[in-house]
Amino acid sequence: MGGGVSGALIAHRLVNSGRQVIIVDSRDVGMGSTMASTAILSYEPDVHLTDLISQIGKRSAVRAYRAGLEALESLEQTIKTLDDSCDFRRRESLYLASNRKDARIVRRECETRQKHDFRVELLTRRELAKSYSLRAPCAILTRQSAEVNPLKLTLALIRSAQKRGLKIFSHTVVKSYRRHGKESVLTTSDDFRIRARHVVFATGYETQQFLKQKRVHLASSYAIASSADTKFPKGREWPVIWESARPYLYVRSTVDGRIVAGGEDVDFVDEAKRDELLARKTKTLKKKIRKMFPHVSWKLASAWTGTFAESKDGLPYIGPHKDFPGAQFALGYGGNGITFATIASAIIPDLISGTKNSDSRLFRFDRRSG
Ligand SMILES: Cc1cc2nc3c(=O)[nH]c(=O)nc-3n(C[C@H](O)[C@H](O)[C@H](O)COP(=O)(O)OP(=O)(O)OC[C@H]3O[C@@H](n4cnc5c(N)ncnc54)[C@H](O)[C@@H]3O)c2cc1C
Repeated sequence: MGGGVSGALIAHRLVNSGRQVIIVDSRDVGMGSTMASTAILSYEPDVHLTDLISQIGKRSAVRAYRAGLEALESLEQTIKTLDDSCDFRRRESLYLASNRKDARIVRRECETRQKHDFRVELLTRRELAKSYSLRAPCAILTRQSAEVNPLKLTLALIRSAQKRGLKIFSHTVVKSYRRHGKESVLTTSDDFRIRARHVVFATGYETQQFLKQKRVHLASSYAIASSADTKFPKGREWPVIWESARPYLYVRSTVDGRIVAGGEDVDFVDEAKRDELLARKTKTLKKKIRKMFPHVSWKLASAWTGTFAESKDGLPYIGPHKDFPGAQFALGYGGNGITFATIASAIIPDLISGTKNSDSRLFRFDRRSG
């Protein structure tokens, strides 16, 4: 269920392992959060490693971070097998301290990551100004991030899987889930039944409709894109940029030289209220980008908004749920949902085939920190 980037990655894996797979989606595929995504590919979740260690312990926290790194490598390899490069590019990433108070936290986070063998460097105010023309008290530099076009990725995965038998049923709304013996039965809004041995809920932020217990916080994020050929100061490649403030500003480039920036997150109430704020949030984002890059000339080309979900510990929910026997969930919640979707696409086929996957315990529904 769900033909966003999560559903596409999982279907692609399952089909390649010889399974017969269908995707049902209430919209056209890729038209949920995936379409709105600015698609910065980071290995690190929104929660600092330092904080995650205090929440879930050193071993699990370091493993969660490392799973992100491995996911990006695996995604890069998968994309090489597709008929489209999906605008995937490796990128430097800068995590800026938003103010002097945060500088201490960012320095400590850099030390924690170095201590656990993550390849990061701390850049001082002077180094940031000299190399990137950016003003911030300090930043963590990593060279292991990336960017992608999320819709191209979803569609290329689906095209590839369709060649091996994947079938798509769009505009098909699933209303309910039941398990009968060895079979799951999904009922659609127009009363059709879909029977399957296994079901994967890859229904993104809308999954809450099926769950009794409220698990997540829903937020809306706002994004803008500049016209093409916007050059980075000093003739450098654009890095991926984000910051320590919450909610954070995030910035990346596209292959045709657009700046894509997002942030200004607010609690999600409904789509009308979210969309009403677009003009005001666009203005604020424009102002922030002009302040960040005072010497770059660019024009606004488009602005949009989308909804996403956040878990308490910043980690995704991947795996079975006690109220849904026979089903698996792939809920890549948080700011790096695409990395989480890739992690889910490694875990879920193992859970379905009964193969042990030691990462599944980190992301299970009934973890204490979730
Ligand atoms: C503005 C914005 C910026 C973002 N930036 C980033 C970023 O830089 N990096 C990053 O990694 N992540 C980012 N994210 C998050 C990321 O986009 C999401 O985590 C990711 O796209 C989720 O993909 P998904 O396939 O799980 O969900 P979705 O893309 O939402 O797909 C779920 C699908 O399920 C379908 N569905 C739902 N309910 C039903 C039902 N009952 N029956 C049938 N079908 C159903 C929907 O139609 C939808 O197509 C951003 C999100 C937003 C909104």
